[in-house]
Amino acid sequence: MKLFAVFGSPIAHSLSPQIHEAFAAQCNIRICYEKILTQKGQLKEQLAQFKANQGVGANITLPLKQEAFALCDKLTIRAKEAQAVNTLYWQENELWGDNTDGEGLARDLTKNMGLSFQDKRILILGAGGATLGIVGPLLAGNPQSIVIVNRHVEKAQALCVRSPLISAYSFEQFESSHETPFDMIINATSCSVQNILAPLLPRWINNSIAIDLAYMKNQKTPFQQWAMDNGATQSHDGLGMLVEQAAIGFALWHHKMPDTQDVLRKLRQGRL
Ligand code: NDP
Repeated sequence: MKLFAVFGSPIAHSLSPQIHEAFAAQCNIRICYEKILTQKGQLKEQLAQFKANQGVGANITLPLKQEAFALCDKLTIRAKEAQAVNTLYWQENELWGDNTDGEGLARDLTKNMGLSFQDKRILILGAGGATLGIVGPLLAGNPQSIVIVNRHVEKAQALCVRSPLISAYSFEQFESSHETPFDMIINATSCSVQNILAPLLPRWINNSIAIDLAYMKNQKTPFQQWAMDNGATQSHDGLGMLVEQAAIGFALWHHKMPDTQDVLRKLRQGRL
């Protein structure tokens, strides 16, 4: 039986074990998948211990994706572009890092929800590990523009080198900007996980599609709720992205692409 794990903090809420175990059952593969609570600065030590226990692959969640990136011996093109890693595996004793977040989001929004990024004006809230991963696949969908707003504005500004279509603001600067309205607003802050809202203005969301990368069991996230209360046309959580990014990682580890729809349906119905 092969050993996998997800590392991060907080980690108790993670659905990655259920998702990977359901994929493995579909494909008749036996795996053990653990959650390992890991604080910033501890990942190197925890990964070494995991590998010594015969661990073969791992997922990385907040706030460790950039720390994981720095620990890898080899990186996929997606990981190099993102400069953040959410999927790890060892090959011939070298640690490989990939980033499946962006492709997972793109697959969920386009394949599962039938949305398109073509010519869209997109606002991303947050510039942490998740944003690093999603910007590339969003740009690949030919949007009209991407605005990134982050509490620490320098992290958003650092992303502007990726494309002239990207502009960056702090929340305070953005309050007086004229960039609104947007077709799509993606909440990639960790605010929903903390059960708080970033400082948002209703005019940013009027008639927009709201997407929160976070998810909550059987209820809308605070961001989704705020968006629907303030004129969004629809709101989606990050559960579909979570399942899709996991499937891409699963295929890297096991060389088989699982059926994501079955697992997503079961999660929504509380059957996993
Ligand atoms: P990080 O810790 O790397 O980044 C957190 C981000 O949230 C930063 O931009 C940070 O701003 C911002 N933030 C935190 N607290 C506040 C606050 N009080 N006010 C305003 N901004 C704040 O996390 P990740 O990027 O890895 O994850 C972000 C979110 O995306 C989480 O909710 C996570 O669960 C979700 N996610 C979902 C995935 C899925 O598959 N559905 C995959 C990946 C992530 P600053 O930089 O200024 O500190």
